[in-house]
Amino acid sequence: MRAMYYEAFEATPEIRTLPDPTPTPGGVVIKVEATGLCRSDWHGWMGHDPDISLPHVPGHELAGKVVAVGRNVRRFREGERVTVPFVSGCGHCGECRSGNQQVCEEQFQPGFTHWGSFAELVAIDFADHNLVHLPDAIDYATAASLGCRFATSFRAVVDQARVTGGEWVAVHGCGGVGLSAIMIAAALGANPIAIDISAEKLDFAKKMGAVAAINAREVADVAEAVREITGGGAHASVDALGSPVTCFNSIKNLRRRGRHVQVGLMLADHATPQIPMAQVIGHELEIYGSHGMQAWRYDAMLAMMESGKLAPQRLIGRHVSLEEAVPALTAMDKATDLGISVITRF
Ligand SMILES: [Zn+2]
Ligand SMILES: [Zn+2]
Repeated sequence: MRAMYYEAFEATPEIRTLPDPTPTPGGVVIKVEATGLCRSDWHGWMGHDPDISLPHVPGHELAGKVVAVGRNVRRFREGERVTVPFVSGCGHCGECRSGNQQVCEEQFQPGFTHWGSFAELVAIDFADHNLVHLPDAIDYATAASLGCRFATSFRAVVDQARVTGGEWVAVHGCGGVGLSAIMIAAALGANPIAIDISAEKLDFAKKMGAVAAINAREVADVAEAVREITGGGAHASVDALGSPVTCFNSIKNLRRRGRHVQVGLMLADHATPQIPMAQVIGHELEIYGSHGMQAWRYDAMLAMMESGKLAPQRLIGRHVSLEEAVPALTAMDKATDLGISVITRF
């Protein structure tokens, strides 16, 4: 199979021909038809993720067709169209048994704990517990764009922040995660506020459903600006970027008993940010992490896509080839692209 491959962190990845994978007894091999590029891939390539061992093939936001099936797999067959959450649960630990595969104790993460989907083929373990059948109406690029971002945002907004109609939702950072959160919050009938430092991204966020926008470069105090718009603070707030500043603002801008969800990764130097803990106590704020979404919760999201309430394909910026994905990956920290890149040519 052709694949993007690297032997050292921060060294430019190569496109190489590697041996085709074979399925484990409980796993499958998927022919990748589309796979999204994500900042987590950049973090991995930089060496920020301790789950990655070298050499490595990145890629975790995939959709494709099952081409080989392990002998113990019951629910999936060759030829079926599938996608998979970036955290795949083992199916037998306590978390998996309680339905929380997204925090499985022995999780399988393509592109992190194992080789990923920037390749013609990818092997996925624990298939029965994690694969999701794709409705015919949803094309591969759209399914790949659910990736980690849209699905993670769905869980963050719907299941963790428990956003309901009429609530104010502040979204810090208007990259893929933030735009997804805005679209999902708007679909639930909430009032999302977009916050970013790029006027262009804020304009795009309004098209995705933001009812107000704050350019963090143009206001002295972002939390104060949110409190002003919302008449006292947001009911729920998402740090979709992952930085000490956005994390702090996202908690600070909450109204009493508000809910903060941290979705943007906080790695390396950012791992222990400052938190306004006095406000968390005095105002009874709730602070959540959000880490992917279980396969069994995809049904709700796919139903909202089929009915037209959610359109994650609107967040796709460009389709690229495996070769074109190399510079896109290595420059991801400087990317100013609107929308996400999806590899659809291998
Ligand atoms: Zn598990
Ligand atoms: Zn991702």
